[in-house]
Amino acid sequence: MPNLTCRVAALVLFFSSAQNIAALGQPAGAAPIASGGWGFDLAGAEFANNPGEDFFRYGNGAWYDRAVIPPDRSSIGVDTALSITNEARIREILERGEEGADPSRRADAVKIGAFYAAFMDEARAEALDAAPIAPLLEMIRAAATREDIADLMGTGRRSFFGSVFGLGIGADDKAPDRYAVSVGQGGLGLNRDYYITPRLAEKKAAYLAYITQLFAMIGWPVPEQSATAILDFETAIAEVSWSNAERRDPEKTYNPMSVAALGEAAPFPWRRLLAGADLGGLDRVVVVESTAIPKIAAVYARTPLDTLKAWLAFHLADGAAPYLSKRFVAADFSFHSRTMSGVAEQRERWKRAVATVNGAMGQAIGRVYVARYFSPEAKVQIDDLVAQLRIALKGRIERLAWMSPATKLKALEKLAHLNVKIAYPDKWRDYSALEVRSNDLVSDVQAARKFAWLRQVNRLNSPVDREDWYLNPQTVNASYNANLNEMTFPAGILQPPYFDPAADPAVNYGSIGAVIGHEMIHGFDDEGRKYDGSGVLTPWWTDADAIEFSARAAVLGRQFDTYEPLPGFRVKGDLTMGENIADLGGVLVALDAYHNSLGSKPAPVLDGLSGDQRFFLGYAQSWRHKSTDDLVRQQTVSNPHAPEKYRVNGVVRNIDACYEAFNVKPSDALFLAPENRVRIW
Ligand SMILES: [Zn+2]
Repeated sequence: MPNLTCRVAALVLFFSSAQNIAALGQPAGAAPIASGGWGFDLAGAEFANNPGEDFFRYGNGAWYDRAVIPPDRSSIGVDTALSITNEARIREILERGEEGADPSRRADAVKIGAFYAAFMDEARAEALDAAPIAPLLEMIRAAATREDIADLMGTGRRSFFGSVFGLGIGADDKAPDRYAVSVGQGGLGLNRDYYITPRLAEKKAAYLAYITQLFAMIGWPVPEQSATAILDFETAIAEVSWSNAERRDPEKTYNPMSVAALGEAAPFPWRRLLAGADLGGLDRVVVVESTAIPKIAAVYARTPLDTLKAWLAFHLADGAAPYLSKRFVAADFSFHSRTMSGVAEQRERWKRAVATVNGAMGQAIGRVYVARYFSPEAKVQIDDLVAQLRIALKGRIERLAWMSPATKLKALEKLAHLNVKIAYPDKWRDYSALEVRSNDLVSDVQAARKFAWLRQVNRLNSPVDREDWYLNPQTVNASYNANLNEMTFPAGILQPPYFDPAADPAVNYGSIGAVIGHEMIHGFDDEGRKYDGSGVLTPWWTDADAIEFSARAAVLGRQFDTYEPLPGFRVKGDLTMGENIADLGGVLVALDAYHNSLGSKPAPVLDGLSGDQRFFLGYAQSWRHKSTDDLVRQQTVSNPHAPEKYRVNGVVRNIDACYEAFNVKPSDALFLAPENRVRIW
């Protein structure tokens, strides 16, 4: 599908991808960590090496060298291992269907079972081949004007059609208790950089071949010529689109206006687009990439109708390919997974089925998941940990030497208002409006998209739902939402090695403690700091403090700019800024909380390691991850999270306590003179 991501109200995730679930059984290296009794896998470390040279390897080197990326994945790590476990658990939930379901959720159990069955019916998919999308292709062929095309694009959020403009519904940045519709740049099958970066030309050429292949498969006229035309069209859009780093600025991306004013600034059949998206009567939108939108509208206006129709047809086939016959599935895999992410083998069908049903009806699955796999005691323990982290951050803010008392007061107020969601929602999503059939996969996927979109459209005029969960409980990730000033820690991440009630506290503080600290600091990173305690985008900093913050952040950005995970592909300091600030502050807050927890007693020594040493090793272990080069390349190009190695090394080298714990010397690669260490929170 083209890039339809809109601003989901400044929601930031902990990991580079919402690695819900994906592939493979237990490969070497994916095995659960066999810890040394206190929560750290000593056999995976590389203690013979100097921690000051490469702390990621010091904690993880032996593991890294042994780890084998499963052939049907692009990476392996502690998060992936948990996702693999979840995959098998969810399969069981889906295969058992309504058997054993309590009456209150029998209807959901029937639906998730039917959806899974529809996906698993490979013979039917094979027999139908491209037939399920034939009526949709017919709609494209029948489009006679640019207005008709805009109408089809509008339906993109609830069908397989793409759009040159992404529509989103989320809390209004300036009035976060109500919803707003955002209009953002779209139209691209790849991240913008792939079209305009000479070093990525090989991937762009592979994309052209893939477009041509799909055109041939759906019988679209003159495949080569059509493919070239739409690649030119997308390149023209890419050239005027904002980079992912520019899109992180909440002030620049908040441009409310009437639909009429939008039409004047950027002539386009907006009314038809909005009508297609069930937003016919809408009169106000928030424009995201303000300068790109008029330029994309101009590209649209000058592009021949036949090219626009070909563009819709390709993205329709591309979006539906995973649910069609083998030749479509194979083409989709070969380009998106093998070429773009370096995955060697297609995932087994049941794994793809699990991922699809989980994406469509995640809370129906999550409800069963938490009942089976989550212990209520863990919720109490995490509650307590969050309370300790709050106290630690409060203390750090109070002691900040560079911030004025006026800004500190506001920061403390924001911290006091921070809301926390742990494990699973109190109110489960109602799926009764979603229709699912066990013999019609393509229509089930469309129905799920329609359900998800209409759920948002229908609540547009209601107050923002503060009980809503954006992540599924089974998701191995965490998030911070600036508009709600809240963090979410799903049940999926509240398990070893992130959180292990049986582990040494130092390791828990270094892993789940740093995760909690990270999400807290997102409220105070370069983006989050622009929202107040009620989630309103409004300046609350004195000018001098804002300038000082930016100067400190800029130094961190320059440090990350120097990291080069692959020749010619460097980490982008501006794109990854928010995550890096959150990582650095998160570790410091967690370390303070750990020290506070010891009271006046010294930490015990275990296996010859001090408490602080175990804390930092726990942190390094939580980032155990190995990726294909293609995934790393993709990550440096477009992901706001730096590759895992730098989330360890790039952070600990700025922390004095790590120098003391491991006796890091000026001659060590990670050494920074004290005046060059970044100190923000
Ligand atoms: Zn984050």
